[in-house]
Amino acid sequence: MSVRVVARIRPLLDKELGKDVIVHADRAEEGKPLTIVKIPSPKNEAEEFSFAFNGVYEMATSQEELFTAEVAPHVRSLFQGLDVTIFAYGVTGTGKTHTMRGGLKLAERGVIPRLLSNVFRRGKKIAKDSNGDTTVHVALSYYEIYNDKVFDLLESPEKRTPSGLPLREKDSKTVVVGLSERSCEDLKDFERLYIEANNNRITAATKLNAHSSGSHAILRVKVTQTTGDMVRESTASAIDLAGSEDNRRTENGKERLIESAAINKSLFVLSQCIDAISRGDKRIPYRESKMTRILSLGQNNGITIMILNLAPLRSYHLDTISSLNVSSRAKRIEVREIENEIVFKQPPRTNSAGTVAGLKRQPLR
Ligand code: ADP
Ligand code: MG
Repeated sequence: MSVRVVARIRPLLDKELGKDVIVHADRAEEGKPLTIVKIPSPKNEAEEFSFAFNGVYEMATSQEELFTAEVAPHVRSLFQGLDVTIFAYGVTGTGKTHTMRGGLKLAERGVIPRLLSNVFRRGKKIAKDSNGDTTVHVALSYYEIYNDKVFDLLESPEKRTPSGLPLREKDSKTVVVGLSERSCEDLKDFERLYIEANNNRITAATKLNAHSSGSHAILRVKVTQTTGDMVRESTASAIDLAGSEDNRRTENGKERLIESAAINKSLFVLSQCIDAISRGDKRIPYRESKMTRILSLGQNNGITIMILNLAPLRSYHLDTISSLNVSSRAKRIEVREIENEIVFKQPPRTNSAGTVAGLKRQPLR
């Protein structure tokens, strides 16, 4: 299966009403779903560029519609043992955080709270249908990558070590060493943790005089299903990437060079990885940033959904074109859909972080 890449065009904000809209959704043929994004060439307004995606969502798309179409169908796969990754890519101000986290009102809730709600509901159903033979456990990790350093968002910012947490490869997956994990019983539990962690993120950014849109936020939901001595574990990752804008340009889209700013390196590496994969290169430069190691596009087994967030305004023109260029190439990335092995339980050992260690992989049968 390929990475599924969909584009979402955000509506105009109140202060933007009446401004020039240059991004439009279109379809390949009459009666077909929207799959094309059209935008004029910056050099020649009469010329129009078209970018094809697996799906395109117009300005009026609600949070529920997006979730139902793109994420809800994969919750079943998650419980079948597949890892699911959903990430939002795009320029700052295009709706990544709105898409992933969303607002507080029920209708405005984003992919993450809806995903958790579905996971809890399905987990309860599985436990009930098994007459208690199967138990389902949900645990949360939440961290950010800032300047290629990993920080645990479930720990208070005061406890951060300046160098961040290291990564390690384990069972062909990249894991964050020492990351905390919190058990979550229900949506209330989750919301409490999530709000606290997002506050940690803001506090930490403020201390560094940085903006939280300069870091990648990664939420990891681990689902563990236990039946007798059989344990099936799978994870859903929801990632709100840092803004993909070229910092050498001003917000107005003028090509003014700002000396001190550099392009966020990890996003540059991500675009290089996407290019290398879509060209069929042998060498993919994953290891050149922590974010790309964690994302492991095309390397991880399971389902990956990339949501490209777009603002339809002319003021975003050049950055929009560059993000369309990167993401429309990502469609060609192949992902192997392989379920995680079932493992047999060893006597659990609990480490200081409160996470359970000692689950050993053994081939099934
Ligand atoms: P990003 O995380 O990409 O920087 P945000 O999610 O913060 O962007 O969105 C920028 C602004 O646009 C916010 O005020 C947000 O509430 C609003 N917004 C984004 N997408 C939508 C949408 N689909 N519907 C309504 N408002 C949106
Ligand atoms: Mg944001």
